[in-house]
Amino acid sequence: MKSLNLNIRDFLFSNECIFCNEKSQKEYRYLCQECYKKLKRKRVLRNSGNFYYIFDYDKEIKRLIGFFKLQNRRYISQILGDLTGKYLREIISFEGVDIVIPVPINIKRKRERGFNQVEDILEYLKIPYESVRRVKDTRPMHQLLDEELRKENIKNSFESRLRVTGKTILVIDDIVTTGSTIRELTKILKSCGEPKKILVFSLAAAKTAVNNKVSF
Ligand SMILES: [Zn+2]
Repeated sequence: MKSLNLNIRDFLFSNECIFCNEKSQKEYRYLCQECYKKLKRKRVLRNSGNFYYIFDYDKEIKRLIGFFKLQNRRYISQILGDLTGKYLREIISFEGVDIVIPVPINIKRKRERGFNQVEDILEYLKIPYESVRRVKDTRPMHQLLDEELRKENIKNSFESRLRVTGKTILVIDDIVTTGSTIRELTKILKSCGEPKKILVFSLAAAKTAVNNKVSF
C-alpha cells in the first residue's frame, strides 16, 4: 500500500518535461528551460487578411495542446498564455478590439474535458471575453474531411445574443485547420448585427489552413 501511495504521488507531482523528460524548470511544470526556449524561438506573429496566428501546428505544438487535461490545465494554460499573451495583447490594442470571443467547444467534448482551453488561457491572461453558446452537438470536425459535410455539420450550432453592431470582434481558437467552425461562428455574429470588423486569432494553424490561405 505504501508503495502504491508513493507511485500516485510521483504521478501527481511529476515535473518532467513533456518533450525531453528532463526535470522541468521552476516556472513551468512539464517544461524544461531548453524546450521552453525552443518553443519561444518558434513563435512568430503571422497574419493573412483578418487571420492571425503564432505557431505552425507541428509535432511539438500538437503535443503541448494535447497535454491540456483537467488535472494539468492550469500549467498548460500558463505555458501557452506566456508564449502567446504578448501578441494577443498587441493585436487587441492595435486593432482596437471591443469583444473577445473564444470559439465554443462542442457539448460532448466539454462534457469529456469539462472546460474550454481557450477560455482557460484568457482567464490566465486576465483578458475579458464573451461566451457564445453551442446549442447543437456536432460530430468532431476531424472526422469529416469533406468541406460541404463540415459546413452542414456546424450549421446553426451556435447561439448568440451579443450586441455586435459597430464593434471590432476578435474570435479566438487554439488550432485552425479548415476554418469552417470559425466561418460559421462569424456568420452568426454577423446575423446578430453589423460588426465593424471580425478578426480571428489562433495559437496554431495547420498546414492546410496556411496553404489554402484560409481567411474569414
Ligand atoms: Zn525539455
